[in-house]
Amino acid sequence: MERSSGAGVLGTVLVVEDEAEIAGLVRRYLEREGFRVEVASDGASAVHRFVNLRPDVVVLDLMLPGTDGWEVCRRIRERSRCPVVMLTARDGVEDRVQGLELGADDYVTKPFSPRELVARIRAVLRRHRWGGREVVRVGDLVVDFRRRRVRRSGRAVQLTATEWKLLEALASQPGHVLTRWQIIDRVYGESFEGFERTVDVHVKNLRQKLEPNPQQPQYVLTVHGVGYKFARPSHGTGP
Ligand code: CA
Repeated sequence: MERSSGAGVLGTVLVVEDEAEIAGLVRRYLEREGFRVEVASDGASAVHRFVNLRPDVVVLDLMLPGTDGWEVCRRIRERSRCPVVMLTARDGVEDRVQGLELGADDYVTKPFSPRELVARIRAVLRRHRWGGREVVRVGDLVVDFRRRRVRRSGRAVQLTATEWKLLEALASQPGHVLTRWQIIDRVYGESFEGFERTVDVHVKNLRQKLEPNPQQPQYVLTVHGVGYKFARPSHGTGP
């Protein structure tokens, strides 16, 4: 049985940190905020965990035994646009510049406050995953990404975890077409063993819950021969 979106986690964070005390502190804070947390304590296992876990954000310490944070960042960037928040030394201005050049999204200077780190993580998630928005409003529908809530005409809509991920993938880029395989990649991940038709089934279920008339959808739109897209908000740009 899938959990409803309300009980779901905000996202998965891979924390790459060799100092157990810091890793534990970060884990406690992030879990309390509603994130799922996995820790890797060296660079080589970090890359391995990244590939298997497909986290939403990586918190990456630079000074690691063996493969250092630079190399980990490089290898992550070869594979993905996943947001990376680097942990750098207090005086490491060069580190920060190099980190941003390597594709890190933000950095936090050690010693850091866990609250600041959480705020940075939320900000990069907002920018990356939700196209800079926390809420999308279209017609009588309100999709609140941060709170993982959907309301239709003011009434809460209960979604399964998979339905939520599907909606999040589509609604975070309104008007942008996603192919079935792009949806599979974002929603189900590498463990997916089903068929493209699985996407259609979940879209159908989502429409049943969101659309005033599921036979004539106005939010989750079919693009024939391509895939699906979410309707543009009424104040969106362009046609
Ligand atoms: Ca370290």
